[in-house]
Amino acid sequence: VEQFRVSVVGSGNWGSVAAKLVASNTIGHPFFHDEVRMWVFEEVLPCGEKLSDAINRTNENVKYLNGVKLGKNVVADPDLENAVREANMLVFVTPHQFMEGICKRLGGKIRSDAEGISLIKGMEVKKEGPCMISKLITDMLGINCCVLMGANIANEARIAFEKFSEATIGYKHSKEVAQRWAKLFSQSYFLVSAVQDIEGVELCGTLKNVVAIAAGLVDGLDMGNNTKAAIMRIGLREMRALSKRLFSSVKDSTFFESCGVADVITTCLGGRNRRVAEAFARTGGKKSFNELEAELLQGQKLQGVSTAKEVYDVLSHRGWQGLFPLLTTVHKICIGLLPPSAIVEYSEHAPNFS
Ligand code: NAD
Ligand code: 13P
Repeated sequence: VEQFRVSVVGSGNWGSVAAKLVASNTIGHPFFHDEVRMWVFEEVLPCGEKLSDAINRTNENVKYLNGVKLGKNVVADPDLENAVREANMLVFVTPHQFMEGICKRLGGKIRSDAEGISLIKGMEVKKEGPCMISKLITDMLGINCCVLMGANIANEARIAFEKFSEATIGYKHSKEVAQRWAKLFSQSYFLVSAVQDIEGVELCGTLKNVVAIAAGLVDGLDMGNNTKAAIMRIGLREMRALSKRLFSSVKDSTFFESCGVADVITTCLGGRNRRVAEAFARTGGKKSFNELEAELLQGQKLQGVSTAKEVYDVLSHRGWQGLFPLLTTVHKICIGLLPPSAIVEYSEHAPNFS
């Protein structure tokens, strides 16, 4: 029987942790081929070495996950087509804004029996409305695609090695395929459960990044934990209401999985979106999110600011802004239309969804 071959498309902060996780499971496993190919968006390090060479020499992603051995069976490959050629299990984990371009390059280049999973938190907005990244992958590559989302800040996996956390797989049709993905990712310290609610899981991971911007603004305004908790609660409520309006199949129970409330909490406490939004509020909006992202994250990418715009486009197209004041206000603050303090003022107008 042919073994499953895994490739990881992406090698940022979370992409590198994902490669490490799956590589520790493929090695020596009868179902899986040992080697995990990891596509690297090539760049030259300040020392003059190419990032992919540095990863293969040191077995660490020295730029995006310094100090963590990825496992000897992880091979960094700067050639996208070559990295995916043999794989029948494709893990997608790049910032969401690059996926459409990557899918264009991959069209016709992957195995026809490949299955995909997206760890990407974000969406595209098309004329027809929102297009989740797993759907983009399915439509552009013609493959089935699950999602894996959860309360997983990659840097914690770096600082405190292999501390317990959880994640949620969302699937559409095949429980068997979802279980194969769970087998690939599960560890004693990484508990993965699968739910049949792909849109709910993916929208949780996507929308919580906008809520995290709101939480970061509250931090930057020094408003304290009660205000922040209120913003998180209202944000979670808007996440659920919008998800259910967009897809009537979305389940309430999904919001109690790791991808829901737990990811809201961890990202609002310790994520990059929170951090950059706090800095934005502290500079009184004098520096843009783009400037602060480059300054503070050094090549890592925020998802929340562009997601706020994408969500705003969806809301304004449908005339729903008034129903989602938190999500709407975050976008207006990000583009400088409203001051950071507006994030708390909006709640006077918060609708009651019940
Ligand atoms: P990252 O933000 O750490 O790194 C940015 C990556 O983008 C780098 O690999 C860089 O090489 C690449 N890149 C830059 N320009 C590019 C281009 N033009 N084309 C293609 N790639 C380019 O990445 P990440 O943290 O791995 O994030 C990937 C996804 O995972 C995001 O959707 C994020 O929300 C999600 N995620 C992140 C975390 C986390 O803690 N970092 C946790 C869970 C999920
Ligand atoms: P940030 O991108 O805000 O760091 O969030 C990471 C994340 O998705 C944690 O689950």
